[in-house]
Amino acid sequence: MSFSSLGLSPALLRALKSKGYSVPTPVQSAAIPAGIAGRDVLGSAQTGSGKTIAFALPILQRFDGSPATQPRLIKALVLVPTRELAAQVGESFRELASHLPHPPHLASAVKVTVVFGGVSINPQMLGLRGGTDIVVATPGRLLDLIDHNAIKLNNVQTVVLDEADRLLDLGFSEELGRIFSLLPKQRQHLFFSATFPPAVERLANALLHDPVRVAVETTPDSAPDIAQRAILVDAPKRTQLLRHLIDTNAWQRVLVFVATKHAAEIVAEKLRKARINAEPFHGELSQGKRTQVLADFKASRLRVVVATDVASRGIDIAELPVVVNFDLPRSADDYTHRIGRTARAGESGIAVSFVSAATEPHFFLIRKRQGLAIELEHISGFEAMELPSTAPRGDGGIKGARPNKKDKLRAALINASKP
Ligand code: AMP
Repeated sequence: MSFSSLGLSPALLRALKSKGYSVPTPVQSAAIPAGIAGRDVLGSAQTGSGKTIAFALPILQRFDGSPATQPRLIKALVLVPTRELAAQVGESFRELASHLPHPPHLASAVKVTVVFGGVSINPQMLGLRGGTDIVVATPGRLLDLIDHNAIKLNNVQTVVLDEADRLLDLGFSEELGRIFSLLPKQRQHLFFSATFPPAVERLANALLHDPVRVAVETTPDSAPDIAQRAILVDAPKRTQLLRHLIDTNAWQRVLVFVATKHAAEIVAEKLRKARINAEPFHGELSQGKRTQVLADFKASRLRVVVATDVASRGIDIAELPVVVNFDLPRSADDYTHRIGRTARAGESGIAVSFVSAATEPHFFLIRKRQGLAIELEHISGFEAMELPSTAPRGDGGIKGARPNKKDKLRAALINASKP
C-alpha cells in the first residue's frame, strides 16, 4: 500500500516524501481514509505506530486549497496528556502544514498553536491574537485560556484525543467534560488510545458516532524490534550495575525509568559522580528544565536521562537504543509504554529491567500479562544475595504492594460508607 492510494492531496504527498515516509503504517492505512471521509475514528494502536500522522493528515487535508478565514478560527482541537507530547504533536502538524500552498500575503496556509501549563500564560495569549486554525493543548491550560477569552471552541470541526487512556489516568475527565460541553454538537472525533480500559470505552461510547474502529494488532511483523532482558540484582547494587552495563556495552543514549522524583535525582547524581553525563526528568522540574533536558538528550549532549513515568508516554526520541527499568513499572501497560520509547519507527532497541528479590513476583506478573518469555539473568559480580522475605521494600511503587492514590481514595470511600 502507498500513501497515494489513501486519498491525500498532492501537497501532503509531497510533505510525506520530504519526511522520507514512503509506506503508511497499518494505523495510517486504516485511519487516514476514514478521517478524510469525515468519519469518527477509534484507534487502538501500540506506541510508536505512527498515530500522529494518522490524525494530522485528514485534518490538514481540509485546509489544502480552502481560503484562510480572517481572523483564523479554530477548526481542529488536539488534546494530549503531557506538555512534551503537545510540543511534539504541534511540531509534526507544522512540518506537514509547511508544504500546503498559501497566498503570498499569509505566512502559512495553516496556523498551529501549542498550549500547555507549567509556563507563563501571557505569551500563549499573545500567540493566539489574530486567531489560529489548529490548537494542540493539554486540558488544564486550554480551559484557562478559554476562561481568559483567548480561545473559543464554537467553530471546531474535529477533535482529537491522543493517548486517551493517559488523559483519563491523569485525572483529566472533569476537564474533558467541560471542554466537550463547549464544542459544537456536530463534530468529528478522532480518538487514539494505546489501551482501552472501561473509562475510555465509556467515553468513546458516549461521544463517538458509528466510529471506524482501527485496531492494529501486535503481530510479530509489526511489533517493534525490542530485545527484552531482565536481570536479577539486589536493590542497593542497581546503580553500580547500571554503570557497568553502560560501560561494557558502550551505550551512548540510555533512558532510565525510576519510580519517584527523588530516585530520579539521586540516580542521576550518582551517575554524574561516576562521570556519566546524566540528568533527571520528572514532573517537579520547571518546564524550561524539562525542555532543555529533552533537547540535550536528543542532541546527544546527554548520555543518560533518569525519568519518572512522565516520560513514558508518547515522547519520540529517534535513535534511542536502550531503555532501562531501574524500578519496575507499576503495571504491565506501563511496561509496554516505557519500553516503547526505544525501537521507534522501524529501529531496533534493548529494554533491560532490574528485578530484585522483593520485586520478583511483580516482574512475573508483568511477564505473564504481556505473554513474554524473558528469563531472569545473573550478571557476574552482581549476583543477588537478598532473599524475598528479607529483601527491603522501597525500590519503587508496585501495583498491589503499596496503596496508590486511587487505592487510598477507594479505602476512604469504603470507610466512609461503613455504618
Ligand atoms: P507516533 O506513533 O506518531 O509517535 O510515530 C512514531 C514515529 O514513527 C515518529 O518518529 C514518526 O515520525 C515515525 N513515522 C510515522 N509514520 C511513518 C511512516 N509511514 N514511515 C516511517 N516512519 C513513520
